[in-house]
Amino acid sequence: MAQTDPVDFYQTALLLTDEEKEIRDTVRRFVVGKCIPIIADYFDRASFPIELIAQMAQLDLFGVHIKGYGCRSRSHMIYGIICEELARCDSGLRAMFSVQNSLVMFPIFEFGSEAQREKWLPAMAKGKAIGCFGLSEPDYGSDPGGMQTEAKRKDGQYVLNGKKMWITNGTIADVAVIWARLDNEIRGFLVETRMPGFHAKPVQRKFSYRTSPTAYIDLKDCTIPADALLPGANGLKAVFRCLNHARFGVACGALGSAIACYQAAKDFALKRKVFDQPVASYQLVQDQLARMLVEITKAQLVNYHLGRMLDENRAGPAQISLAKLNNVREAIKIARTARDILGARGILADHHVMRHLCDLEAISTLEGTAGMHTLVLGKEITGISAFK
Ligand SMILES: Cc1cc2nc3c(=O)[nH]c(=O)nc-3n(C[C@H](O)[C@H](O)[C@H](O)COP(=O)(O)OP(=O)(O)OC[C@H]3O[C@@H](n4cnc5c(N)ncnc54)[C@H](O)[C@@H]3O)c2cc1C
Repeated sequence: MAQTDPVDFYQTALLLTDEEKEIRDTVRRFVVGKCIPIIADYFDRASFPIELIAQMAQLDLFGVHIKGYGCRSRSHMIYGIICEELARCDSGLRAMFSVQNSLVMFPIFEFGSEAQREKWLPAMAKGKAIGCFGLSEPDYGSDPGGMQTEAKRKDGQYVLNGKKMWITNGTIADVAVIWARLDNEIRGFLVETRMPGFHAKPVQRKFSYRTSPTAYIDLKDCTIPADALLPGANGLKAVFRCLNHARFGVACGALGSAIACYQAAKDFALKRKVFDQPVASYQLVQDQLARMLVEITKAQLVNYHLGRMLDENRAGPAQISLAKLNNVREAIKIARTARDILGARGILADHHVMRHLCDLEAISTLEGTAGMHTLVLGKEITGISAFK
């Protein structure tokens, strides 16, 4: 196997275009050289390596879904490849990339006015402005349709009141896409985080997603200009168009984390001797490694095919749900198995496995819980919705 493709049992890399291979190798070099060496310390301190944002911008990683406005438009396939590579280091890093691209730049491009696009997209492409996506609320996660955050018109402006919770990038963002009820319809607003009445504070004492700046946002009479409304973002349909992109990113990221755990376990098992033999020589361990490889290979094929379907506009939400559900579920099993193979060392930061395992627990919930994606598939199969 080629050096750059340490785990690619079915040689999916042969199916990639030259551009796809080039971006994969570029991001991989960045991840191995600049991100992996520092990430465990940031995780320890529950802090995001903010200095990496400028470097990500230099690699043209922001604006993947955007044509023009200083962005280098790329395919869904490439978006997925970048997510996989970033998550081989850290899911917080992958989340920063995904939120900036899919949940902020995409809605500004897709639903925003020309002035909104001009104002934010070039700055976001350069990493000079950071975005966050405020949908979930303390009492409304899986059912965002129940949200209580409200926008009211006043003197030609909008006044926002409500609470958002679990907002990735929330404490480092310059602009927030805030979803709120206006005349009882869910609308998107571009809120500058420096506006009076916008208060973001970190969600504390997280044991998962520790590098990711997860925020609680309080909107108290937050007054924003009339041109802050995203004119094309009407209802949950608009929300789900953003989430579809992001969920594919999560499916690809979960694969990246699984690969990192598998590699750590395999390397360790070959080196570590127990009862005078390498751990890798025992049948039980070979069974564990084989199971991991099988699931990684299946997830690679799912992601590859789904990426191509998305590029050809042939994938719907249920296809994306299948990938998110499967890849995260299997990545958790792989991370747990890797932790077991590493023995006591599996809980140390140095091997990164425990960090991935902790992060994957949050990933099972965010961007739609495992339960909700199961129900989406159930609805697709039966035609009957088991939820509203
Ligand atoms: C680290 C992290 C980052 C996040 N980032 C963002 C972000 O940037 N922006 C944002 O808006 N949100 C974000 N979220 C929020 C995330 O989208 C929600 O946590 C998720 O949608 C689930 O909502 P909840 O946590 O309120 O769980 P709940 O909706 O309360 O669900 C609790 C449990 O009930 C189950 N359940 C719910 N409804 C049904 C049903 N009908 N039938 C069967 N079971 C059901 C769920 O599957 C789950 O197991 C983030 C979350 C985390 C953990």
